Amino acid sequence: MMIEVGQAKKIINEEGKLLNREKKYEKVYILDSLNRVLSEDIYSLDNLPPFDKSAMDGYAIRSLDTQNKENITLKIKSLIKAGDFCEELLEENEAYKIMTGAMIPSGADAVIQIELVKTKSNDLYISHEVKKGNNIIKLGEEILRGDVPLKKGTLIRPPEIGLLASLGYEFINVYKAPTVGIVITGDELIDINSEIEEGKIRNSNEYSLKALIKSVNAKVFSVGIVKDDRVILKEKILLAFEKSDIVITSGGASVGDYDFVKDILQEIEADVKFTCVAIKPGKPTSFAVYNSKLFFALPGNPSAVINTFEEFVKPVIKSMMGITENESEEFSVVLKDDFKAKVEREKYVYVNIKKEDGVYYAYKTGSQCSNHLRAMCNSNGVIIIPKECGSVKAGEVLNGKFIFK
Ligand code: AMP
Ligand code: MG
Repeated sequence: MMIEVGQAKKIINEEGKLLNREKKYEKVYILDSLNRVLSEDIYSLDNLPPFDKSAMDGYAIRSLDTQNKENITLKIKSLIKAGDFCEELLEENEAYKIMTGAMIPSGADAVIQIELVKTKSNDLYISHEVKKGNNIIKLGEEILRGDVPLKKGTLIRPPEIGLLASLGYEFINVYKAPTVGIVITGDELIDINSEIEEGKIRNSNEYSLKALIKSVNAKVFSVGIVKDDRVILKEKILLAFEKSDIVITSGGASVGDYDFVKDILQEIEADVKFTCVAIKPGKPTSFAVYNSKLFFALPGNPSAVINTFEEFVKPVIKSMMGITENESEEFSVVLKDDFKAKVEREKYVYVNIKKEDGVYYAYKTGSQCSNHLRAMCNSNGVIIIPKECGSVKAGEVLNGKFIFK
């Protein structure tokens, strides 16, 4: 029985939640934490900045020496550059030349910028009063020791990486990335470094799937190409289950004489939730639970495998990794071309979305045959033609979204 796209997503989401009530975490090197989610609060063991520092290249002075005065002359003692520690106290009517980022010497409580003063040998001329605290970044102004500047559940982006580095975190606890096992089926498949032979095609799905998995920072366990042989295929699927948290097969999921995936699911007594979805491309998609692991039988057609991974697999991987933000937000798109569709399945048409005068428009990119990838390569987005809609005409408005974000 064919189920609706929304219903399929709901089932997957619920099973994913059930299996992942207790999220696991792992420690990763700071740079590998990019686009991952913190599994713990980050405490600061230091004050940031750790000392009062100059925000400008200029002169560190005592504001008192300029209070209610004009045309002040101070004596320049020496230069403090970033990284220096000046032990000597700044005395009355004295100034230190100071560079941006350098530690404010004791006694000083203000910095006046280089551009606002005049100097002659060791004399510094200041025209007006300088207020206390001027151009000083105070100790702990950004973060105090004991603060929690980043909370559990935070998505780590480049600024979070910078903040973690400034707090001295080289390794970060993030929610664990699942290992996705992939099993590529098809007697017609040859390796990508092979010359084309009669009747054979290169195995592209293994690479697009690995790229999709990499794009969400999950791990891959690939058993590679498996012949359309029921016994061997079952063995390889079981191996993938042993080594992974989620298993995906590519191809062999339909009703052909050599499509064994659904039979194998029965044989191993997997809890099959659905075997057919009203989506185009991607109708022969199955979903099952086996040994508390998720299983997706995806179609072999190259654009169908990508479309179904994006719609069904990616969201569950992300939720396992603690990513809750709805990245694939849909918006209204005005069609610039006519698009053919049949009623009975929700159709995902890969298009070019351009914003013109604040309105998003969708342009055709070529044949949407599920065996082709070319149009998808020329697309930056997808529009969704609802099941009951059928063909649509230029000027009509549909929901769309950007892809591979
Ligand atoms: P299947 O779902 O096994 O019937 O395959 C559907 C179509 O996708 C056929 O035209 C296959 O040749 C093609 N196909 C299956 N697996 C792959 C793959 N790994 N790489 C590229 N094309 C594939
Ligand atoms: Mg096949």
